[in-house]
Amino acid sequence: MKNLLGMTMEELKLFAVEMGEKPFRGKQIYNWLNQGARSFDEMTNLPKTLREKLKAEAQIGGCRAIRMQEDKGDGTCKILFEADTPASGTPADTFEGVFMRYSYGNSLCVSSQIGCKMGCKFCASALGGFVRNLDAGEMLGQVLEAERVTGCTISRIVIMGMGEPFDNYENVAKFLRLLHAEEGRNMSWRNMTVSTSGLIPGIQRFAEDFPQVNLAISLHRLTNEGRSRIMPVNQKYSLGQLLEAARDYTDKTHRRITFEYALIEGENDTDKDVELMIKKLGGMLCHVNLIPLNKVDETGFSGSSRKRAHEIAERLENAGIPATVRRQLGSEIDGACGQLRLRQQATEAHTSKRRSAEHSDQI
Ligand code: SAH
Repeated sequence: MKNLLGMTMEELKLFAVEMGEKPFRGKQIYNWLNQGARSFDEMTNLPKTLREKLKAEAQIGGCRAIRMQEDKGDGTCKILFEADTPASGTPADTFEGVFMRYSYGNSLCVSSQIGCKMGCKFCASALGGFVRNLDAGEMLGQVLEAERVTGCTISRIVIMGMGEPFDNYENVAKFLRLLHAEEGRNMSWRNMTVSTSGLIPGIQRFAEDFPQVNLAISLHRLTNEGRSRIMPVNQKYSLGQLLEAARDYTDKTHRRITFEYALIEGENDTDKDVELMIKKLGGMLCHVNLIPLNKVDETGFSGSSRKRAHEIAERLENAGIPATVRRQLGSEIDGACGQLRLRQQATEAHTSKRRSAEHSDQI
C-alpha cells in the first residue's frame, strides 16, 4: 500500500494519473494532507468513488499522539507518538517529539528514528537500542499531529529527538524538502536545524545539499579519549577529524555551526574542560549551546548546576566564543530525548491492560 503522506506534489500528481485520474486530484490530495487530514473521508472535494479507491489502495501513514505531558510553567509539551503503521504494534513503535513555545514562534523537536544506534552513554534513546528509520511521512506526521493536539502552528523544527538524522539521510532530506516546498508549508531553510552526533560523511553531504539549514554537532567532550568513552561514534570518527569537518563546513557554507555540550557533573564541566574548549574552539565560526544534562536514572550521570553552566558560558564569552545556556525547557516532563518513551515502557510493563483507557484519557 502506498503511503501518500511524505509524497511531493509532483509525486501525488503522478500517483493520481496512475490511478486514471487527472493530475489536479493529486494536488487536492496534497493540500488535504498538508492541512493535516487524517482520513480520505475528510477530503470532501474528491468524488466519493475516488475516496473509496484511495482507501483500498493507499494510506496516510503518519503518526498519532498517544500521550502528552505539558510543563505548566513554560508550555513545553512532550508528545509520545505511535506510528500509524507499526511494525509490531508494541511500545517499540513509539517515538517522541517536544513542542516548544518561543517568542518568535513555535518549534517542534522531531525524531528521525525509533531508537538509535549511536549508544551515547548519557542518552535515554540509546537504552532501548535501534528499532527502525522513520520515513519522511512519519516525520511530517509529527509536525501535523503536534499542531492538531496543541492547536498551535509550528514554524520551526529541530531534528533533535530520537535517532541520528545522518544515519537516515535520505528520509531526513526528503522531510526537509517537503517542509520547504512552496506549495506545502513553505518553511524557510533557516527555520530548520539538524543535529548530529558526528557522522562526518553526513556533515559533508549536508553542506552540499542544505547549506542554509542550521547544523548542530553534539560535541560533549574535547578530549578524544573522553569523547569515545561517552560517545562510541567517536571511535569511528575521531574528535580531530570531526573538528576538521566542522571547519570545512563553515568554510564552505559560511554558516555558524552550533556545538551542543551537555554538561555532566564531574565528567566534562571542570575548569580543565573549559580551558580545552577555549583552546580547541577558539577562532571557529561557532556557537556553544550548554545544556545541563537532564538526569536519566538508568545512565548514572547527573547534570551540572545551572550556576556552573552560566559560569562556563561567561568564561567562553570572555574568550570570544559565543555561548548560551539552553533555556530549561520541560525539565519537569522528562524533556531529554527518549525519556518519555522509557517511562511509557516502564509503565506498560506494569499496566499493559490499562493502555487503551490511558490513551483516551490523555488525548
Ligand atoms: N543524534 C543526534 C540528535 C538527537 S539528540 C545528536 O546526537 O545530535 C539531541 C541532543 O540531546 C544531542 O546533543 C544529545 O547528545 C542530547 N542529549 C541526549 N540525552 C540527553 C540528556 N539526558 N540531557 C541533555 N541532553 C541530552
